[in-house]
Amino acid sequence: MPRYADMSKAELEAELAQVRARYDEMVARRLSLNMARGKPSAAQLELSLPMLDILDAAADLTAEDGTDCRNYGVLDGIPEAKRLMATLLDDEPENVIVLGNASLTAMYDAMVRLMLFGTQGSTPWAQLPEVKWLCPVPGYDRHFTICEALGIQMIPVPMDENGPIMDEVERLVANDAAVKGIWCVPKYSNPTGATYSDEVVRRLAAMECAAPDFRIFWDNAYAVHHFSDDPAEQDAVLDIAVACRDAGNPDRYLKFGSTSKITFPGAGVAAAAASPANVAEIKRHMNAQAIGHDKLNQLRHARFLNEGAGLAEHMARHGALMEPKFRLVTERLEAELGGAGIATWTNPRGGYFVSFEGPAGTARRIVDLARTAGVVMTGAGATWPYGDDPADSNIRIAPSLPPLEELDEAMDVFTCCVKLAALEQLLG
Ligand code: PLP
Repeated sequence: MPRYADMSKAELEAELAQVRARYDEMVARRLSLNMARGKPSAAQLELSLPMLDILDAAADLTAEDGTDCRNYGVLDGIPEAKRLMATLLDDEPENVIVLGNASLTAMYDAMVRLMLFGTQGSTPWAQLPEVKWLCPVPGYDRHFTICEALGIQMIPVPMDENGPIMDEVERLVANDAAVKGIWCVPKYSNPTGATYSDEVVRRLAAMECAAPDFRIFWDNAYAVHHFSDDPAEQDAVLDIAVACRDAGNPDRYLKFGSTSKITFPGAGVAAAAASPANVAEIKRHMNAQAIGHDKLNQLRHARFLNEGAGLAEHMARHGALMEPKFRLVTERLEAELGGAGIATWTNPRGGYFVSFEGPAGTARRIVDLARTAGVVMTGAGATWPYGDDPADSNIRIAPSLPPLEELDEAMDVFTCCVKLAALEQLLG
């Protein structure tokens, strides 16, 4: 396929007529396909079904420290669940607080506590004239929703394949004490799939911040979510806790994670890990909020995943189901759009998403066209704070949920919509 930019007006018009005819055919097929959210497929969920048989009425429901998991108690988690979540969070069990069923709730709660109480003696953020937050883009829409709901002003920061552009981050945090933190998805980032380089992690830990209570929300949602059972060397992320300690900023980070995309989203186990001072502070506040979380679920997860030792094997099974889908997406993008020179996309080695950049000013049109043809994508703009992608070019592709045959059809529709939107634009 020649590059669209090199085609004459007549050639473009002929191409448009062809693409439009294909699109009309697709609309007539009345498809109903979904590539909107990063949900595990039914086949992935089945991998964790045996976990449901671990605890029955005949099982020993006592944790190793003698806690009766059927009853109240244990604010920060049973020891075996702490070990499991420590593996996931790359930390020590004593720095881990095992929480409820979702890391998103944990992040929201953490942000609300900072707003209400400040941290380590600082002024509660809600009492300040303004609070600003750095949002690497494209990013995770629900992170942005938390900030928006709490009136925190979001500042987009560009990313590349190594994480946020650190010159820009350092510039923004250096002189403005209202900038209180940054969202980070350090591994197989949502949606670009980028893994932060060691240099980025070190610079985040060491940068000079005007706000002494600056916090890095380290959302390691995809810590073990590789497509290959032999993850690449460059996908090992430097531990932010160690980097912050080494840089003399031991309280700067809060780590979050969950088993949502390991076992069952919405019925998994979430956790946070933090410095001893932050763990003590969080537990003090949590004491007013909860008596304890679901210890039966903690026990079930700890036993099923062998306290972390079974994670790699279990995730290799997820990876084996995910890899062909991501391969299909990138192969179809390359085959259909590779020559036209109108789009770029990421080629992740793990996580849940492909980030797609179409021609500026076409993302909304592409998503609308796809919807009309029966393919639901993540809303255009969702990957930017306030839903506002200034270039209107980024689209998040979430290939995990549909079976391969449906994904194939959905990619047919998507690539056709991209061409149609690009041609409409070129021909004015
Ligand atoms: N963080 C990131 C980066 C995500 O992509 C997602 C889900 O898509 C979540 C958190 C949600 O995690 P949980 O189910 O633990 O709330």
